[in-house]
Amino acid sequence: MIGVSKLYCNTVEPSDTLRYERRSRDLPAHLLQFSQDKKPVVVWNVTQRCNLRCIHCYAQATAHSQKEIGTEAAKDIIRDLADFGSPVLLLSGGEPLMRSDLGELAAFAVNQGMRAVISTNGTMISKEKARELRSIGLSYVGISIDGTQEAHDSFRQVDGAFDRAMQGLENCQQEGLKVGLRMTVSRNNAREVPAVFDLLQEREIPRVCFYHLVYSGRGSELMEQDLDHAQTRRLVDLILDRTWELHQQGLEKEVLTVDNHADGPYIYLRLLRENPQLAAKVWRLLQYNEGNNSGRGIGCISWDGKVHPDQFWREHVLGNVLERPFSRIWVDSGIELLRKLKNKKQYIQGRCAACRFLDVCAGNFRARAEAYYGDMWAPDPACYLTDEEIGLHAAQTG
Ligand code: SF4
Repeated sequence: MIGVSKLYCNTVEPSDTLRYERRSRDLPAHLLQFSQDKKPVVVWNVTQRCNLRCIHCYAQATAHSQKEIGTEAAKDIIRDLADFGSPVLLLSGGEPLMRSDLGELAAFAVNQGMRAVISTNGTMISKEKARELRSIGLSYVGISIDGTQEAHDSFRQVDGAFDRAMQGLENCQQEGLKVGLRMTVSRNNAREVPAVFDLLQEREIPRVCFYHLVYSGRGSELMEQDLDHAQTRRLVDLILDRTWELHQQGLEKEVLTVDNHADGPYIYLRLLRENPQLAAKVWRLLQYNEGNNSGRGIGCISWDGKVHPDQFWREHVLGNVLERPFSRIWVDSGIELLRKLKNKKQYIQGRCAACRFLDVCAGNFRARAEAYYGDMWAPDPACYLTDEEIGLHAAQTG
């Protein structure tokens, strides 16, 4: 996760994070990406059920009922996460609101001292549901969209999905719940990004996350639909330009990009040309961020209790919370993949291994490297930085 508005618009100082000694449990939500201990934010796909049929769904969600962890067992898992020091529980799915006990689980997490947030398609947030979510102290509601009405409904394969999502968003806003948008960008909807920025203004939405495509779940069939490197550069430039315009207008929106840590060095390189003094500060923040954190600062639990290094990498199972607490699985040095992910730099190959930005990018997404090359330690194919930018000469890359 790269905080575009924070870095590019100079709205955070390295000292802001040092004030909290960069401790996960103390840092406010917007500074958590700079924590030092990297206590894991846990994405819990509490159900695989969903009322929509999104073509890029990484969880391959269906309308059919799947085995899910019961309420009491779920609370035991949350208690363990809280005791372990996980700062945030991100409840996702499928569509998490398909579970009737979602509010009860989120409330339990809040009572245990965690921040609870949900990632939802927004279509099931009635006024009553929004009121319930606010009353339990939910920190944030992230609503997924794929653009404006036509693009969104076509991706979701359900007419009216966009209008229902916007109604859910409005219901949250009326209750005073912090709400934002999430958009996964591919060749099919990149043209919608400006319209999503317009939505931020029209609907007074304070936050948006733009996700790069990870080839996982139904998303793996979309590998061909990922932006090429030139298109990605144009996308990131557009996001930076529009974020800067908002900032200039005094509209402080939080804009983030997710799932391509090459965005960090890309912003740094652009700032070196535009504002070298700010670039130096951003470099320090990128060092605090440390790049991709699968298996370390982020972890995932599936609807059936399986633990994965992140929500996109379900081929690899580290354990099951129904058999062993997450807190024990996460620190088990006998789990080879987990051990290697915590020392990735020793294993990463190719241009990532030789890249001058390895410390601030950490080799980007291993799930994407594995999906593309069949080798989890291969370079990330979605890195759009040139050999010159990462400090390589063409002859060295082979
Ligand atoms: S080459 Fe690899 S480590 Fe370097 S910026 Fe690109 S993805 Fe990150």
